[in-house]
Amino acid sequence: MVLQRKEFALGDIVEMKKPHPCGTNAWKVIRMGMDIRIKCTGCGHSVLLPRSQFEKKMKKVLIQAAEQESKE
Ligand SMILES: [Zn+2]
Repeated sequence: MVLQRKEFALGDIVEMKKPHPCGTNAWKVIRMGMDIRIKCTGCGHSVLLPRSQFEKKMKKVLIQAAEQESKE
């Protein structure tokens, strides 16, 4: 069995397996490193997760940071 590595980058908007209690399920990656910090785009609450946990809980990338830049 091959585990597919999820790709994400700083500034990406990602969807998690569980939405935030505020009802929003779109998080912006605001810090990359050993730990990943994501910020809820609905209420601005931020959460710090170890990278392994983040990768388990992340569902998919909704908007890539590179795409956002190209729209500006
Ligand atoms: Zn929220």
